[in-house]
Amino acid sequence: MFNFKKKYGQNFLSDKNLLKAIANDAEVTKKDVVLEIGAGAGALTQELSLLAQKVVAFEIDTDLKDELLSLNLPNVEFIFQDFMKVNLKDFEKDISSYKVVANLPYYITTPIIFKILEESEKVNSLTIMVQKEVAERIVAENSGKDYGILSVMIKFYGEAQISRIVKRQMFNPMPNVDSAVVVIKIDRDKYSDIDKEKFSKFVKTAFSMRRKTLLNNLSSLYSKDILKAAFDEKFLTRRAESLSINEFVETYKKLEK
Ligand code: SAM
Repeated sequence: MFNFKKKYGQNFLSDKNLLKAIANDAEVTKKDVVLEIGAGAGALTQELSLLAQKVVAFEIDTDLKDELLSLNLPNVEFIFQDFMKVNLKDFEKDISSYKVVANLPYYITTPIIFKILEESEKVNSLTIMVQKEVAERIVAENSGKDYGILSVMIKFYGEAQISRIVKRQMFNPMPNVDSAVVVIKIDRDKYSDIDKEKFSKFVKTAFSMRRKTLLNNLSSLYSKDILKAAFDEKFLTRRAESLSINEFVETYKKLEK
């Protein structure tokens, strides 16, 4: 009997209807290469393998190796490696584009999302099961309580929607919170003229002290004189949480000019 490892965020799914629904949310077709992070016992992998041309599934826990390989899925490649250590540029070398579909391990949800958004040049969409609270942060709009760095950066790279809420009872073992499936569609042309890394640093700095004004937070990147010359007082006393993605981009562009 397999012992679930909490440290790897192992909460497995088995309900066929739910697994099919996740694969459908991702709109996987026979033309698609799918990247799965955290194959677990292969429940989602099997559904994906029925729909996709090819599935590449990463799994950190080598105790799952025998079980996964015994599934004998012809169009699936299992790679037993920590996904956080994978070089995505290498992975993408021979692929023109791909979709990420995964029931993500909760202890590293945000680092995995950022790794893909920041490193990938070929991912088209991410259909990911995350904690409901994280899903709400991903799709949050400005001025709402959940709006923050994650919400802004997702909007920078594309568009996100919650496709379904999944009750905690659907997982084994059952986690303490409910989950949600989020579909993020990447739009690489949206802000292609902007340096990703510098913009990300700008957004993080703007949010560094949530209750402080833009003037205070941004003064660690630009002098107060520069900020005051570029914007009026009313704008500079706003907080990062009130800025839409377009306002973030416009503010950044003006300061970088
Ligand atoms: N896909 C399976 C399912 O839906 O039933 C399992 C999902 S479970 C929430 C997350 C899986 O990710 C676990 O099998 C865990 O061992 C694996 N995992 C955790 N950290 C990982 C990492 N850094 N790289 C690759 N896989 C990881």
